[in-house]
Amino acid sequence: MIVLMKKHATKKQTDRVINKIKEIGFKPHIDHGISTVIGIRGDTSRFDPDTFYMDGVEEVKRVSKPYKEVSKEFHPKKTVVKVGDIEIGGAYPVVIAGPCAVEDEKQILKTAAGVKKAGAHLFRGGAFKPRSSPYSFQGLGEEGLKILVEARAKTNLPIVSEIMNQTQIDLFEKYNIDIFQIGARNMQNFDLLKAIGQVRRPILLKRGPSSSVEEFLLSAEYLLSSGTRNVILCERGIKTFETAYRNVLDLNSVALIKELSHLPILVDPSHGTGIRSLVAPLSYAAIAAGADGVMVEVHYKPQSAKCDANQQLNLTQFKALMKSIIK
Ligand code: PEP
Ligand code: MN
Repeated sequence: MIVLMKKHATKKQTDRVINKIKEIGFKPHIDHGISTVIGIRGDTSRFDPDTFYMDGVEEVKRVSKPYKEVSKEFHPKKTVVKVGDIEIGGAYPVVIAGPCAVEDEKQILKTAAGVKKAGAHLFRGGAFKPRSSPYSFQGLGEEGLKILVEARAKTNLPIVSEIMNQTQIDLFEKYNIDIFQIGARNMQNFDLLKAIGQVRRPILLKRGPSSSVEEFLLSAEYLLSSGTRNVILCERGIKTFETAYRNVLDLNSVALIKELSHLPILVDPSHGTGIRSLVAPLSYAAIAAGADGVMVEVHYKPQSAKCDANQQLNLTQFKALMKSIIK
């Protein structure tokens, strides 16, 4: 439910509404825009909206969407997720670059130095890899996180890495991983969402390959309703009948989510296409559709990559891409 204050409502009137919300055991969520909007978190179905018609109140309404805190109705102002000096959802597109997986120290340090030089804002790399086959490379685990930390120290680039289950939270905190990535396969791992939502870290939530936009936003709702606001969405393509590429990069979702939600959204054209030559054109398309940036797989030697070799850019290709998207 939201309480929209009148444009010229006084602080006293707003405080009275806030106190009323607290009195009945709910948490207010205040958004100061042209008018103040006070969101009421939690299940408000048993409350009559009339309860909140007090002096200074323009309108009280129920949020029509099933995802409440994620919706623009609840929080009209754009959310900007800050990682150090970097703003995701701010004025400029942000680029996260790095290999699919952390393979060894040399691969990471060379790739990190290369993407930094080309202008990337954050560095990515999976230490824990969700692979379709149990016989494929599963990542280096903790050793991989240590290598990422070394790359961060050398380049000053914040790091993004995928967390696969709740037991890894302590480890990710120990190494101060800047953005916790929740992978596509875990988008509906609700226990994981609830646990990570309580951790005060920026989260990158990837869309499940077979999930609808509504399911995607409901998963983000799990995070927000667990207490965090630092959530970045990531469109990474969905499964369709088409077999010409790995996934179909659904850019409709980007334009639609921009209408529905205040959360920033990035696009991953690497998993979205699975084809190296399509990564640059789909990056441009993503930005044109309104994405707040892209996450791109880059490897200093893609032909020898232990996973996703066909979609990783080499450093020269990445540099060319950066020149076109970062002004
Ligand atoms: C990844 O970004 O490392 C990854 C595994 O992607 P996704 O979860 O989108 O498949
Ligand atoms: Mn990958």
